[in-house]
Amino acid sequence: MAYINENFLKLQHRYLFAEIAKRVAAYKAENPQADIIRLGIGDVTQPLAPAVVEAMHRAVDECANGETFRGYGPEHGYNFLIEAIIAHDFEPRGVHLTPDEVFISDGAKSDTGNIGDILSSANVIGVTDPVYPVYVDTNTMGGRDIRYIPCNEANGFTGDIPAEKLDVVYLCFPNNPTGAVITREGLQRWVDYALRNDCLILYDAAYEAFISDAAIPHSIYEIEGAKQCAIEFRSFSKTAGFTGVRCGYTIIPNELKVNSLSGERVALNGIWDRRQCSKFNGASYISQRGAEAVFSAEGQKQIRATIDYYMANARIIRQSLQGFGLQVFGGENAPYIWVRTPNGTDSWSFFDRLLREAQVVTTPGAGFGAAGEGYIRITAFGTHKSSIEAMDRVKKCL
Ligand code: PLP
Repeated sequence: MAYINENFLKLQHRYLFAEIAKRVAAYKAENPQADIIRLGIGDVTQPLAPAVVEAMHRAVDECANGETFRGYGPEHGYNFLIEAIIAHDFEPRGVHLTPDEVFISDGAKSDTGNIGDILSSANVIGVTDPVYPVYVDTNTMGGRDIRYIPCNEANGFTGDIPAEKLDVVYLCFPNNPTGAVITREGLQRWVDYALRNDCLILYDAAYEAFISDAAIPHSIYEIEGAKQCAIEFRSFSKTAGFTGVRCGYTIIPNELKVNSLSGERVALNGIWDRRQCSKFNGASYISQRGAEAVFSAEGQKQIRATIDYYMANARIIRQSLQGFGLQVFGGENAPYIWVRTPNGTDSWSFFDRLLREAQVVTTPGAGFGAAGEGYIRITAFGTHKSSIEAMDRVKKCL
């Protein structure tokens, strides 16, 4: 007799985005002429950089020729991309990695979710609240206990160091959904906590490319001791518009070890390699050639221009909302703007008001966790035109 994995029955319904879609569809049905501006979901709108497109075209042409065709690649990724990542993303920040510490993947969502495969279901997991839902859902699937670490105005949305001993903690900076960043000192406190408590940090740096303040760390490995306690996840999705292309990478330092029941310390790098070789056949050659081109001089210039474009939207949104007297967070080193709802309105009521009176779709903060109540998230991934227009409309309905 076949049985279901009961953990999947504990998952909450895909409440947030399904509920948003339902409310938008209902409004659209009542108001078919409505011109709705969507600043809710975190997908990008600008096309791929020309350098990336050219590299992918070249890769397709290679595959069209029997002499240069590529089939299965290395499960952990091609060296040309791994070396470009180390040289451009880490060496300039004083972080020295060896190629075997970098695992290319099809994106950070898969890796932040799949990493649970190599961790015990007995681990107690800490997640910051509000939270990117993947961490919660995948640990629920893994049957683990989850503790919520509230992130609020008092702690700069970076979470207080827990009094209890957690086995694994997910951190995400720049943060989705709050747009908060963490200082070196703040991150050092988390690393020190992890080292003191033999805790593993899973550091999601999917938005590091949006950091413009030189004082903010891009990688957790810029922090002393982090190689002994942290895995870092990165993505080309928001950095270079790869949400549809798919490519990301995960760093597992060779010196990172966790416990086994026999009392032996086990290096996670080799275990993840074993997991990937069994369950993953690598990101596509074409995606990896596209990702490599992100690091070319042209590619860097082009992706920077797109990031600047989004951050100009963030500025428009931030400054407009502040001008309307709202309390606004994030949006300076991150593409998300976290807005306090006016007069203590709850997240969903404010969401409804903006939908009905301004035809602007946002994301209610409560959908990201209890600590998100009283906020909405607005993304900077729209166009300049839609961001400006959205702010004009919001102004009229406040
Ligand atoms: N991590 C965070 C915090 C995200 O917000 C997202 C996407 O929105 C991802 C990971 C997923 O990235 P990818 O497209 O590389 O799977």
